[in-house]
Amino acid sequence: MRYISTRGQAAPRDFESVLLAGLAEDGGLFVPDAWPEFTMAEWRALRGLPYPELAARVIHPFIGEGIPLDALREMTARAYSGFGHPAIAPLVQLDTSAFALELFHGPTLAFKDMAMQLLGLLFDHVLAKRGQRVTIVGATSGDTGSAAIEACRDRAAIDMVILHPEGRTSDVQRRQMTTVRAENVRNIAVQGSFDDCQDLVKAMFADAPFREEMHLSAVNSINWARIAAQIPYYAYAALALGAPDREVAVAVPTGNFGNVLAAWAARRMGLPIARFIVAANRNDILARFLAANDMSAREVEPSLSPSMDIQVSSNFERLLFELLGRDAHATAETMQRFRAEGRMPVPDAAWREATAFFTGFTLDDPGTLGEIRRLWVECGYLADPHTAIGTAAARSLAPPGMPTIIAATAHPAKFPDAVERATGIRPPLPARLADLYEREERYTVLPNDLASIEAAVRAHARRN
Ligand SMILES: *Cc1c(COP(=O)(O)O)cnc(C)c1O
Repeated sequence: MRYISTRGQAAPRDFESVLLAGLAEDGGLFVPDAWPEFTMAEWRALRGLPYPELAARVIHPFIGEGIPLDALREMTARAYSGFGHPAIAPLVQLDTSAFALELFHGPTLAFKDMAMQLLGLLFDHVLAKRGQRVTIVGATSGDTGSAAIEACRDRAAIDMVILHPEGRTSDVQRRQMTTVRAENVRNIAVQGSFDDCQDLVKAMFADAPFREEMHLSAVNSINWARIAAQIPYYAYAALALGAPDREVAVAVPTGNFGNVLAAWAARRMGLPIARFIVAANRNDILARFLAANDMSAREVEPSLSPSMDIQVSSNFERLLFELLGRDAHATAETMQRFRAEGRMPVPDAAWREATAFFTGFTLDDPGTLGEIRRLWVECGYLADPHTAIGTAAARSLAPPGMPTIIAATAHPAKFPDAVERATGIRPPLPARLADLYEREERYTVLPNDLASIEAAVRAHARRN
């Protein structure tokens, strides 16, 4: 399998070098040069398999022979062995046709673990094979950081620096990052927003001498391997609900567009996912785009669902590339204009194509609390604020009668204040995290300034 950049100016690469590089050197995102497809019979043969086995089979076509299926199988078995539920990603029925796909049973209680636990092992495997080491830099709005840290902590060939926006993550989210005692991990609180953090990471990658000196690598959702590792759970759920012999819909609480893009990739592989409901909080750029072709960035506003407090959804570029008929030149130009003008000029035909499958939904904080309460009262289900936006989206926009998979992206105990406000119940942390509030925190606060951040990364990476 070969990968090309959405901006067309980077040489094609194989899976392993895409894994290590993260972002392409032309600023674009790597995408497969052709989408692998399974036949109906091949999909049916995956029904009923244990999750790690299904995951290995769905991901392997994106890797190719560089990593044999048996080696990948060992990695998926290990990656999901520490999860707190034997089904790994259980499907919980909420009403006649709505099903919560619980993706939060990993070590940090959010769906990021589903991909990240496997990514840590893939990095290890590939770096050992090549005798290389890397410095992983990442920006997090809360959940990516802890998931990345848990996946890469204490790995000999990896140094890691994670940027989070100071004061804009929940206490649980921050503590899950800053209390990890691992010599190879450093946390930086940036005085700015998540988009600022993400821009700093992009700027470090754009600084070619720095990138080479540090052997920079990324595990943000711009890393293709993360998208690949998120496809299997849509297949797992869709097959359980009757696919490929029956159409299903998905509703995905969305920030950086990675998770919903993975669902779309499952469709490209041949699964009949007929509708993609993109659920957002009041940071509603994607909903405005889908409703009226208005992709214009506004100020990021803090909400009860901080992992979706994003205005620039990096992974959207991968969909844009497809909507523009895989025209890399047009994609690069569109992204450059978006950067310069804050508004993305998507041609009408491309927008119409997007709206044939994608629908946007947005819910403010009072609506989110109301939905958490409703789920508790009507279904006896405790949902976190991100998941609740997904269930509300499915309720208002899912095609009638079509089984709808709602990505349940975080454990309710990760956002206990909102859940308690809505239901009066404070969800307890699972036993393995029960002493989180007693552990000592370690992080550095730095200004939103590239030179300061690069100096901190350099100091950390050199220590080894
Ligand atoms: C990261 C995250 C999201 C957003 O996912 P994207 O792939 O960035 O769209 C939604 N909910 C939770 C809980 C998250 O951690």
